[in-house]
Amino acid sequence: METKKPYITVQAPEGYSAPGFFATNLDKVVGLARKNSIWPLPFATSCCGIEFMATMGAHYDLGRFGAERLSFSPRQADLLMVMGTIAKKMGPIVHQIYEQMAEPRWVIAVGACASSGGIFDTFSVLQGIDKVVPVDVYVPGCPPRPEQIIDGFMKIQELVGNESLRRRYSPEYRSLLESYGIK
Ligand code: SF4
Repeated sequence: METKKPYITVQAPEGYSAPGFFATNLDKVVGLARKNSIWPLPFATSCCGIEFMATMGAHYDLGRFGAERLSFSPRQADLLMVMGTIAKKMGPIVHQIYEQMAEPRWVIAVGACASSGGIFDTFSVLQGIDKVVPVDVYVPGCPPRPEQIIDGFMKIQELVGNESLRRRYSPEYRSLLESYGIK
């Protein structure tokens, strides 16, 4: 009888293998674990948030990527997903939430409003959340389809999986945070 191959959801990192033996480096193992167990904090202020709800639903199911556990506390989240129009008054709140997240942390700006202010080129709307926090991935669209949100999420997974464990201690990273007034 033909034996079925096991369904592999996660590929092993590059390394050296032989029967009963596999060796790789620590960065890759930690990256593999982190990228498949991201806990997102959904900061949804308007219509893009509705697309995110669809992304979490049964059809698109972000849980397939190990991210079904949303965190509504910044202290237990490692991915800030900003979805919607951010008024200037909300800017300091987004900044505070980012500061309350533990390292390592990543940020996605979902949709035109979060990325650049979108159609709201007005005195009251923040022209992109990168004015208050560093952004890792921008997802275009007004609104982006769930497929685009998933694509942005997979780009984050790529960054998370390949990030060196030393990056967060580097002078470049520290000066990036300092440019946002974060010590
Ligand atoms: S980008 Fe478009 S869909 Fe998303 S919050 Fe702004 S106006 Fe709404």
